[in-house]
Amino acid sequence: LREQLIELDKKHFIHPTSSLKQQHEQGAPFIFTKGEGVYLTDITGKRVLEGMSSLWNVNIGYGRKELAEAAREQMENLAFTNSFSSMSNEPAIRLAAKLAEIAPGNLDAVFFTSGGSESNDTAYKLVRYYWKLKGRPEKKKIISRKKGYHGVNIGATSATGISPFQEMTTSHAPDFLHVEPSSSAALLECIDSEGAETIAAFIAEPIQGAGGVNMAPDGYFREVREICSKHNILFIADEVITGFGRTGKMFACEHYRVVPDVMLVAKGITSGYIPLGAVIVTDTIHRELIDLSQGVLLHGYTYSGHPTACAVGLKNLEIMERENLVENSRLMGEKLFEGLKEIEQEIEIVGEVRALGLIGAVEVVHPTEKKRFSELVAPKVSAEAAKRGLIVRTVGFEGMDTVVFAPPLVINENEIKEMVAILKASLKAVQESVLK
Ligand code: PLP
Repeated sequence: LREQLIELDKKHFIHPTSSLKQQHEQGAPFIFTKGEGVYLTDITGKRVLEGMSSLWNVNIGYGRKELAEAAREQMENLAFTNSFSSMSNEPAIRLAAKLAEIAPGNLDAVFFTSGGSESNDTAYKLVRYYWKLKGRPEKKKIISRKKGYHGVNIGATSATGISPFQEMTTSHAPDFLHVEPSSSAALLECIDSEGAETIAAFIAEPIQGAGGVNMAPDGYFREVREICSKHNILFIADEVITGFGRTGKMFACEHYRVVPDVMLVAKGITSGYIPLGAVIVTDTIHRELIDLSQGVLLHGYTYSGHPTACAVGLKNLEIMERENLVENSRLMGEKLFEGLKEIEQEIEIVGEVRALGLIGAVEVVHPTEKKRFSELVAPKVSAEAAKRGLIVRTVGFEGMDTVVFAPPLVINENEIKEMVAILKASLKAVQESVLK
């Protein structure tokens, strides 16, 4: 069966974010058939610890029958109805209210999408619409950060600050600018040179995920929040990865005591059980939009406010609260960080280690030259880890050679130990091969 599936896969399935050639020649390394907690089993019966929560999203872990039940019940009653022309449905209403309750500050009104890229493109249009309604149509530029990742729709790609993603396509959306990610002075300089009157919004991930799990320096987010407020620029936080407990708080903005004007979520909102995303705006913006708008808001996806997706989202958040998973993320994150610190001490090819809650990274560097090896080494580490039963990811662009991970928030202490032990053994094996 495996061989048959691999042949069909090679022939018919164009894999997202994959090496087309490698996939065509070698086939899929894993065809997964089952998930339970933090573990996945593939078609050959091999079990692996999913150290990435798949794509940083399966926060409550695999195999949750309650989510299947919530979806089944909703599908049987009313699988789908649209929310256009102000029609509504109970799961969407309740989930919007729930998000307003748990989001920081006065983030209070929700526009639903089906994922993070849609949340980004929606936000860019909404902030421009907002300024247009306020008689400021020239405020349309969006500033984002280098190494930032915001998705693959045309707007989201244009905001993404990772060169290979930009270079994949030959034309971008206009009015996107990128600044250095670790200094608020860079933002200020950009505003000064472009003119605040031309800028609609600044967007940032509280922790850059796909760009290598990069944390901003202390004080950065409070400074950029102030700069945005002072210059009448909206601040958008892309919490697509960091939302819903990933960093040990419900939303990562809370670490910095900063409330954005617009917050983007997806992934953990349903723990990946069904596609869903959202754009959450402040009560102030919502009210201004209502007061100033005329006619129809001509932005909406068929699946905005999908009742089944929203029912699953609600159940997912209920489970997160019932099982204190945000707190577990914080506690297990501390254990993970302790383990990473030991690895940093013991393995020579490890440069910096980083973690906040259950998102982390290990930088691979040459031990004497203290910079990246001439060829990428992190992919060898992830290959070794996969052999030993752990899935992690690597980041190899913009001068990085980094292993990144983000296990499900249900992970326990033994599983953290297992993860750290496999990481260490994999790094050790690779060290022996690259230093000999
Ligand atoms: N924003 C961030 C910070 C992300 O990490 C991602 C996906 O990884 C996206 C947006 C895009 O989300 P999606 O892949 O659901 O479209």
